[in-house]
Amino acid sequence: MRIGTPKEIKNHEYRVGLTPAGVRELVAHGHEVLIETKAGLGIGIADEAYVAAGARIVPTAAEVFAKAQMIVKVKEPQPSECAMLREDQLLFTYLHLAPDPEQARGLLQSGCTAIAYETVTDERGGLPLLAPMSEVAGRMSIQAGAHAMEKAAGGNGVLLGGVPGVPAAEVVIIGGGVVGYNAARIAIGMGARVTILDRSLPRLNWLDSVFENRATTLYSTRDAVETCVHRADLIIGAVLVPGAAAPKLVTRDMLRSIRNGVVMVDVAIDQGGCFETSRPTTHQDPTYVIDGIVHYCVANMPGGVARTSTFALTNATLPHVIALADKGWRQALLDDPHLRNGLNVHRGRITHQAVADALGHAY
Ligand code: NAD
Repeated sequence: MRIGTPKEIKNHEYRVGLTPAGVRELVAHGHEVLIETKAGLGIGIADEAYVAAGARIVPTAAEVFAKAQMIVKVKEPQPSECAMLREDQLLFTYLHLAPDPEQARGLLQSGCTAIAYETVTDERGGLPLLAPMSEVAGRMSIQAGAHAMEKAAGGNGVLLGGVPGVPAAEVVIIGGGVVGYNAARIAIGMGARVTILDRSLPRLNWLDSVFENRATTLYSTRDAVETCVHRADLIIGAVLVPGAAAPKLVTRDMLRSIRNGVVMVDVAIDQGGCFETSRPTTHQDPTYVIDGIVHYCVANMPGGVARTSTFALTNATLPHVIALADKGWRQALLDDPHLRNGLNVHRGRITHQAVADALGHAY
């Protein structure tokens, strides 16, 4: 199969759909790979590295789209990319179609077959192609929060790990899933005192056995949230209710009981945010202050560490790219019901129940 990866064109997106290591695997399986020139330059992967792995560099996205049978990307196709997709073409990328009728129209009009990373499942009911980005965002939330706690950044001037004779910071993590677990690991590693709230008892059980007595686990109620945020130096919002907007767990009223300079990192901002006072921010201008509380609400945190995120993402996507290329998409989807759950669009129809419902389309 001929596989193509264009340079991402969404604002400040430096990730890339295939790495040279991925190209080398695909070439070893007998496939041909086209990479748009400079596709990896933003994260330090030069065209030469792709060529050494066996790819052919092409000068434009138009040439990638014109010649490839499968397009492997990172972000959802932008209008100019939708216009280049064809009926006989397979698109494998993040789509996040449900809230995006314009993109849905573009994909349906193209007639292409589109498999979305975010709806591919695994045997444990997880979302294995979303998890790597949650791992990145969880770990990064502590790094970003620790920086925002510095005085010059508007914070309360508390050092996360403290020093001998001075207590470490209190970190409260609301939601102990993939983001929350990874945030806790880094916070504990930096010497902070960590409390994790979740409303899933099996999850609290698991977190308790993993962290032993290095973190406190707490069942999440209004009461528990209120008590914890009152004494926190850094609050991480990491909840997810699948298919729904994030519940507002830290209300505007609660801000009054939070001390000045405390930092709140709302990782769940991409689902609307779990703090009432959250609004999306960017890497260029990541924080704002309300009632003396510093809010960090960057909606695409993994984009800030695009190199790590590219390798984390492609580690998870590559086995599927290889299966799709080796078998063709029909056979690959017949063989793997979890990959089949990724099918969102085929020949002018939405083929995923939840996405169709969200868009008000027939399924
Ligand atoms: P996850 O499903 O692994 O974990 C979510 C956890 O929240 C679950 O353990 C669930 O039990 C818990 N939860 C639900 N309601 C709760 C409540 N009321 N109180 C406490 N806990 C509650 O999800 P995840 O992969 O960890 O993702 C968390 C959020 O981070 C999602 O909204 C995801 O979209 C977002 N995210 C954002 C970025 C970014 O760049 N901002 C990057 C990756 C993920």
